[in-house]
Parts: sequence; C-alpha cells; structure tokens
Amino acid sequence: MERQRARLKQILKGGRLPKLAVFDLDYTIWAFWNDCTAGPPYRKESDLTIVDRSGEVLHMYPESRMILEEFRNENIKVGFASRSPVPKWTRNVVETFGLLPLVDNLCEIYPGSKEPHFKSLHKKTGIPFDEMIFFDDEMRNLVDVSKLGVTCQYCPRGLSVDEVEKCLEAYRKKKKPL
Ligand SMILES: [Mg+2]
Repeated sequence: MERQRARLKQILKGGRLPKLAVFDLDYTIWAFWNDCTAGPPYRKESDLTIVDRSGEVLHMYPESRMILEEFRNENIKVGFASRSPVPKWTRNVVETFGLLPLVDNLCEIYPGSKEPHFKSLHKKTGIPFDEMIFFDDEMRNLVDVSKLGVTCQYCPRGLSVDEVEKCLEAYRKKKKPL
C-alpha cells in the first residue's frame, strides 16, 4: 500500500489538479450495495471493514481511503454523490468508516439522477464544473454528469490509483497547461 501511495503522490504532482474530486459510494468507494445490507447499527472493525446488524463484514476497496487522504493533502476538496435509496443508512456507513471528516459538508445522498447532486456541490463550493472530477462504477451516472462539463472516470472494479491516473490524464488534456 505504501508503494501505491508513493505512486499516487507522483501522479498528483505531475500537473494541474482539479479543485473538487467527487466519488460515488456503492461499488466505487466500497464493495457492496448499501440497500442490500441488513442495515444499522454498523460497527467499525478495521480501517477497511465494518460489520452490519446481522454481523456481515462489509468492505471498503483497499485504496479508497488512501486516495481520499492524498487528495486532501493536495488541498483538493473531496465530496460524495450517491443515489442510494437508503440515504440515512448510507450516511451512517460513511460515518462508521470515519470518512465524514474528509468531505466537510459535501455529502450528497438521495435517489434520482446525479445532476442535482452536482448542482448542489457547485452551489456549496462555488467551484465550476470544469474544475471537478468524478468517479463512478455506473455508466449512466457518468453520462449525466459529463454533460455538465465534469471530467468523469468509469471505475467498473471500484476506485483505484489506476483510475485516478486515467482521470487526471483526461482532466489535464482538457485543461490548458499552467
Ligand atoms: Mg455505484
């Protein structure tokens, strides 16, 4: 993991950075659909695992937390945009994993298209859409959000340093060099 962190630091230093990085939750940050779990109370088991009411262990993808931390270290704001049909449970999972302090108040969780999520993030931060990047495992969300001008990255196997590298390459190609 430390090798992946060093690799990510190098990728971040390789050029222009966005002002806001937004992440889907189910199957992007963690490896489960929250509405398919037994629900709260959730209990933290380790940095990357929590346990639900039934005792089932739920996993975060191994590089998710490190990626959020390194974005924050570079002064990139971090936010979540989820269409979870169980918003209270999902917020609870974010809290139990200890991720809430990383996103300030930028935690948009409600069903429907993700356009309102991004409009709200823009309203809260004043950051233009073309200074944002977005990671999601579902193509339809990327189609909706890319129409706003956000640089979007498909993560069919969840968030990883490889996906961050691809996304920043696309972002830097779109933007003029510093
Ligand atoms: Mg998802």
